[in-house]
Amino acid sequence: MSESDDAPPVVIVGSGAVGLFLGVLLARVGVRALVLEAGGRTLGGFANTTFECVGRRHQGIQISRSRSLGGTTNLWGGQLVELMPADLQRREWPCGEAWPIRYEELASHFRETYQALGVPDDIIEDPAVWEWLGTPRPQLGQGLEVFLTRWMRMPNLAVLFSREIETDSNLLVATDATVCGFTFDGDRIAAVEVCDGQGRRVRVRGQRFVLAAGTVENVRLLLHGATVADCPWRHNRMVGRRFQDHLGGRIADIKPHAMRDFSRAFATLVVKGDKLQPKIRTTNDFVGQPGNLNIQAMLAFESSISENLVFLKQFVKAALYGRRVGSLKALLKNSIACSRYLLPLMWNYAVQHRLLIPGSAKISLHVQSETVPLDESRITIDTTCRDVYGLPKVILDWRVGQIELPQIKQFAERVAVALAPIADVVIVPELAAGRTEFLDGLYETGHQAGGCVMGESPETGVVDRDLRVFGTRNLYVLGASVFRSSGNANTTFSAMALAMRLKRHLVGI
Ligand SMILES: Cc1cc2nc3c(=O)[nH]c(=O)nc-3n(C[C@H](O)[C@H](O)[C@H](O)COP(=O)(O)OP(=O)(O)OC[C@H]3O[C@@H](n4cnc5c(N)ncnc54)[C@H](O)[C@@H]3O)c2cc1C
Repeated sequence: MSESDDAPPVVIVGSGAVGLFLGVLLARVGVRALVLEAGGRTLGGFANTTFECVGRRHQGIQISRSRSLGGTTNLWGGQLVELMPADLQRREWPCGEAWPIRYEELASHFRETYQALGVPDDIIEDPAVWEWLGTPRPQLGQGLEVFLTRWMRMPNLAVLFSREIETDSNLLVATDATVCGFTFDGDRIAAVEVCDGQGRRVRVRGQRFVLAAGTVENVRLLLHGATVADCPWRHNRMVGRRFQDHLGGRIADIKPHAMRDFSRAFATLVVKGDKLQPKIRTTNDFVGQPGNLNIQAMLAFESSISENLVFLKQFVKAALYGRRVGSLKALLKNSIACSRYLLPLMWNYAVQHRLLIPGSAKISLHVQSETVPLDESRITIDTTCRDVYGLPKVILDWRVGQIELPQIKQFAERVAVALAPIADVVIVPELAAGRTEFLDGLYETGHQAGGCVMGESPETGVVDRDLRVFGTRNLYVLGASVFRSSGNANTTFSAMALAMRLKRHLVGI
């Protein structure tokens, strides 16, 4: 094994949503960052021999992770959603201690995070957007509210930051560089061991190390590290515990009384070229009451031209980013199919600032529910089974608790009452009857979290309020894997806000 001799101030493991983002943020303030990425520049995944599910089915461990430059931002939608204040407070669950940071400490980085991702200032606050549209924000009652999510124009971070990756001398990104071990020096990490596809190994030294390899891989690396006698976190029983994902699936069908009114409240908005999506969620006050879960729902619109519109959107995107586009014949066929909607489409887009919901559209409501973070919902490793890099197989035992089904049922019932003035809501019969088969049929949403949770002490967490692994002086974990709970929000935006906060900690401002 050879050794690199130039120790960068910060070594980041993983070039995904949070790792690459942190690298870019550090480089922008003149701090040299080395990002080590296991995958290459083309889309790759994790071999299915490297993990096994023994608990609740979890397909996301295979299909919702990308092992490539840019990580899972090669797959994601780039929808930005904030955690809510109640998410970080004490919850009435066993082990429901508050996060060690206050909501304000996280939220104070939201604006800067939006800006770094290219979201214009004037669409960051919901009230400003509704005011600009000249439409009052829809009022729901029942402990529910309408809120807006923002979609990045360019969700793939490897593309968004390509210029900085290529030209910024403070940002060095190495691909085909799988981190597969640590060298300890007391309570410090002296180096990480890196292996390439040819089996060549090198030790990379650094002053500070940040694990940003995604929820599952962060845990794999920490548990693998803990098999060595001098590992500082060897006795931390929290590593791998409280694995979470959101539960997703259809909970109701919706028939608006008048499509025009419904559309004004719930059609996707296009504000100065940026896409915002109205959704329904539980209010912060409701979430703060004992035993309540934080739940959101989105409306899905399916019409005879849905597929044609998806084709046209992908065609335009591919053409814009220089990728292979579909055939001209297919373009013509899909354009003809949409032609009778062309004028209403354009009218809605240019005048109403909304995407068209055709009158014939089938509308359904899809839930995204928080799950209780359980100690027994956990990731462990099987050291008898190793991959080509010597990393042990991951065993995922995802568990979901007892309150999710009644809470989702109650949520659907409250939405039905809240929407009654503008629509009929027909709850899926299995849910209305509260059958466990309904819960079994829900899928995970690609929002893997937990396993390295933030805590006040090594008894309750893996990392401290600064995201530093307990027992170490220079190893940090970044990503949704540090979330103590995951609220209803798609996890990545708040994880990126934590990257913003970690940047400040690392550069000492
Ligand atoms: C289809 C889909 C849609 C989604 N949409 C949204 C959305 O709209 N909004 C949202 O908030 N979230 C969304 N998500 C979830 C989001 O993509 C992930 O939560 C997010 O990418 C996680 O960021 P991360 O940086 O922690 O991990 P990743 O983005 O997965 O990056 C981790 C990187 O680390 C690398 N790596 C792993 N192990 C090692 C190692 N040993 N050495 C070196 N490198 C390593 C990986 O190759 C990878 O590149 C979606 C997910 C999917 C699958």
